[in-house]
Amino acid sequence: MMGYSHSVSAAAAWFALNESGLIHVHDTPTLIVTTLVAAGAGMLPDIDHHRGTIAHSIPPISRWVARLAAAASGGHRKGTHSIVGLAVFWGLACGADRLLYQGIPLLALALTGFAGGLALRVFKAPGGWLGAIGLSVATLHLDALTHMPWAILTGATIHVLGDALTVRGVNPFWPLTVKPAVASMLWRKSGYMALPLLGEAGSARENILTSILTLYIGAYTLAQLGVLNTYPLEGVRALLSL
Ligand SMILES: [Zn+2]
Repeated sequence: MMGYSHSVSAAAAWFALNESGLIHVHDTPTLIVTTLVAAGAGMLPDIDHHRGTIAHSIPPISRWVARLAAAASGGHRKGTHSIVGLAVFWGLACGADRLLYQGIPLLALALTGFAGGLALRVFKAPGGWLGAIGLSVATLHLDALTHMPWAILTGATIHVLGDALTVRGVNPFWPLTVKPAVASMLWRKSGYMALPLLGEAGSARENILTSILTLYIGAYTLAQLGVLNTYPLEGVRALLSL
C-alpha cells in the first residue's frame, strides 16, 4: 500500500473504532488530534524503508532513524511489520506517556506532533511541521494523550493489515519464519503471508478502497459536526435492517 492509503485507512479505522464504541473520543478537538496521530502512525511501520516518506520527513535525522530501524528490524517489511513490531510501537507510546520532564510529557508530545505532522504532510495540509508543533501544544490542553498509545497501535496495525492485502504480504511472526508444507499465494515458501485482494501496492483496487474509506471519513466528519443526523456505520446498519 502507498503512504496516502495507509494514512486514510488508519484514520477511517480510528473513526470506526470510535463509532463502534471500542474507544471513546467524543469532543471534536481531541478527535481531530487523535485521528491525525492514527493517520500518521499508519505510515510508522515503513520507518524501516530508507526511501520512504518517514525517512524523508526531517532530513537528515529521519534518514538515520530509518537506517537504524531497518538494521534493528532485519530490513523492509520484517520486524516493523510483525506482531513484535506492533508491540514495540505500542510500548514506546505507553513509555513516552509516562516519561515526564517537570510534569510535562515531552516525549509523548513530540511523538504526537511527529505522527500528526506526518499525516498533515501526506494529506498535503497547509502548515507542515508548524502544524505539528500546533498539534503538540493543543495536545497539552486536551484529553488526547491518554488515547495516544491506542491511536499509534491502531495506525500501525492497520498498516500491517493493509500490506497483508497486497501481493508481497508480511511475516507477522518475525523474527520467526513459519514455512508452509505447501506453498501458495496466501502463504509463500519464504513464510510471508498475504490475502492479496488489492494486488500490487498502488493498484486501481487500492485506489478504490481508499476512495470508499475517504467517503466514510467524510460522512463521519459531517455527522460529528452535526450536519448529518446519523453516523455512517449506524446508517448502513439501519439500511440493512429495513
Ligand atoms: Zn509497509
